[in-house]
Order: sequence, then structure tokens, then C-alpha cells
Amino acid sequence: MTTTSPEPAERPLSSSSAGASRTTGRSRRADLQSDLVALPMHEDVPARVRELPLPGLALGEVVAALEARYDPALAEDWDAVGLVCGDPEEPVRSVLFAVDPTAAVVDEAIALGVDLLVTHHPLLLTPVHGVPASDPKGRLVHRLIRAGIGLFVAHTNADRAPDHGVNDALAAALGVGDVHPLESVAAPETDTLVVFVPVGVSDQLVDALSAAGAGVIGDYTRCVWQTTGTGTFIPGDETHPAIGRRGQVERVPEIRLEMVVPRACRAEVLRALLELHPYEDPGYAFFENSATASRAGLGRVGELTRPVTLREFAERVAATLPGTPCGVRVAGDPDRVVRTVAVCGGSGASMLAAAASAEADVFVTSDLKHHAASEATEHPGPALCDVAHFASEWPWLPVAADLLHRDLGARVQVAVSARPTDPWSWQVGADQVGGQLVGGYGDHARLRSAEEQAD
Ligand SMILES: [Zn+2]
Repeated sequence: MTTTSPEPAERPLSSSSAGASRTTGRSRRADLQSDLVALPMHEDVPARVRELPLPGLALGEVVAALEARYDPALAEDWDAVGLVCGDPEEPVRSVLFAVDPTAAVVDEAIALGVDLLVTHHPLLLTPVHGVPASDPKGRLVHRLIRAGIGLFVAHTNADRAPDHGVNDALAAALGVGDVHPLESVAAPETDTLVVFVPVGVSDQLVDALSAAGAGVIGDYTRCVWQTTGTGTFIPGDETHPAIGRRGQVERVPEIRLEMVVPRACRAEVLRALLELHPYEDPGYAFFENSATASRAGLGRVGELTRPVTLREFAERVAATLPGTPCGVRVAGDPDRVVRTVAVCGGSGASMLAAAASAEADVFVTSDLKHHAASEATEHPGPALCDVAHFASEWPWLPVAADLLHRDLGARVQVAVSARPTDPWSWQVGADQVGGQLVGGYGDHARLRSAEEQAD
């Protein structure tokens, strides 16, 4: 069945606050965007962001903040993420977020006078040997550099990123909560450090270990478990004990500290421990923790707060995401009850099996091909909502913009592009066919059927 959005391309994309008003996950979206600073969205608006009294930051610092949220290590091997052009030393006062680095978006960035354009899709995904201005992509690079605008890409790393990635944003926009990845990325390997330290030194040691990278659990830092007890030992003949005497049993009030340590930081943490610990030979051990799934990964699956029919859900999708000419294509019984929802922003056909394994009632993604969709509907599994690729990734823009604004202490202005970049700009012939052939093809089928009966 094919349906069209009641408001195709005419629906304006404006600043991110427009997205909040349309979403059924209203409170969360509104909260996410509450302090988003929207820039003027049209060239005829006289205010220019360069004139705003913002101190700005070096581009390198802005890139570091973006990469702290959208770790390049999460990107696919084939991907091309990070800074495409721009001088890390140059100041950035304003940033524009868009899905695609198209000519129209570059026009917009120049008109707004921003210093940095952040896009989800790479401009240069395939390797190039040059960027001559005679090439369409090279021309965009030239225009950006001439205008003093950097270009930064967060693509599959933004897809996989935990909490504030493309898929979290899509799920939140559709009112899907309690989400986890359809395909998790393993969490970074960690150890647990256990060290025994005299009571008076423990706080200093915890500070030093924390500074070296220990004790981070989620957004919490300096996490440590402490138990007090008595340490006993006999210093040997060749020792130089900080406490006690050679050959005599010593009893010292000690604290047992336990801290989680990223394995990548083990050497640095040990260096800090040995530097600060007063004992000649401190008692410590690193215990390797078992692997755990992280909140990062592709796709998301979660629950609606109350079940709805597939028809209601599809209407919610159409009303929440930016309107596009092709609207939302749905496969499945309109009266099917939907509670568990899987999403994958962009081309998510590879996540179909994972959505089925997660027992999703519906899977929202883009670019599903005929055979994959056809086979999926022939087997038990989720109903399908196929939306415009651009529309599925757009909800990430206000989330990322707001996050950067907050991460940088409001020292840069942020805005979301007002230019829809869905390449499909119009369509004809969409109809509510309800599973029957229509028009001449329907007549033809009936005629053939009659002929066959005559035979
Ligand atoms: Zn995409």
C-alpha cells in the first residue's frame, strides 16, 4: 500500500523549534531544544550572526567537542568523517547543521555568515585526487574556503553514537522510549583497579587516579568504592619502608580503593599510582572486567508509552518528520497493534533481521528495496514504514545543534538548516490502492480472468 503525506514538500522546514511542535515526543524534544539558539533562516533577515557579541572558540575546540559526542572511532571503515576543510586555529562563532552538503545548503551557510557547517552526509565519501572548482564538489569546497567556512562531517559515527545520535533522535521524535541499539557496539574494555593505601593518603590518590582516567562510569567521574581495614606486613632486610621497621610485623589503618579503569588508560593510571603512593611496594591489582554492550550501535528499538494501530503510528511518523513528496510508505495491516518500535535512520535494510529478532511491531527506516520489503511482509515480523532518507536523519540536527551549544557553554551560535535536501522533489500517481490493481491494469486483469474462464 502506498500513502502520501497530507502535507508534502510545501511544509516548511524552519528552525529546530518547528520539529518540536510537531512531535509526539513533545516534552523530550522541547526539553532538548529549550536553549537552542536559532539563527536567522533567510537571506533577507538583516541580522548577521557575525555581528553577535559572542567570543567564539577555535575551530579545533569545536571539532573536539563534536568528536567527544560523535567519536570518529565509531564510524564504518569505508566512511569519511571529520573535518573536510577549515583552519583549526580560526575562530568559530556560529555553526549550521544540515543533513547534506548540497549547493543550496552552502548558499545558506554563506548567507547566514556561519563559520562552520556540520553535515551528516560526507561531501567527499569516495577518494578524490583534487578539488578543482570545475568539479561540482570541488566548487563547494572552494566556496566554503573563500567564505571562511569550515565543513565537518559526522556520519556513521553519529548513527552509532550513544544517547544523542541519529537513531536516538529519530526514536525520541517518534515517541519511542526505553531504547537500546538493534546492533550494539561492545563497550570499551575496562579493568577494576584494587589498591590498598594508608588512610591519610587515600583522597589524594583517588584524585590522581581520576586525573589519569580512572573512576569514570557513564557521566559520573571520580567513582570509587572504599572500605577500611588493617594492612599488615613485615618489611624485608633490604627494604626502606615508609611505615614500619625491618623484620617487625606492622599494622596500618588502610583503605581498599576500587576504581574502574579503561584498559587504554591502564599504564597512565599505574604511573599515577606509583608516583603518589607512599609505599615502596604498594599492594595493587588490575582485574579484567568481562565485555559488556554499550549504548552505542546501529538502530534503536524501544516502546511506545501506549499501543496504537499501525495506521495511527504511520500518521504520527508522517506528522513528525519533515514532509517530503514521497511521504511514508507502509507495509502491513493498518489495524495491527504497534507497541515495540525499531528505527534505523538512513538506509536500514541491513537492520531488518535485527528488528525482527527484537520482536518489533514496526520498523521505521529508509531506502528499503522491493525484494527485502516483499520478503519481510511474507514472513512474521515487523510492519514497515519507509520514509525519505533525508527525513529519517533530520531529527538529529536540532539534537546535535543543541548539544554542541550546551557543550560549548553557549559560546557559539547554532542553527539548523532550513533547506530540505531530499533529492526527490515531486511525484505523481500515488494512490490509496488498498491491495488492488487500479485503472487499466485492473480491467486488464479482469479481462484475462474472463478469457481464462472461457477457455
Ligand atoms: Zn544517511
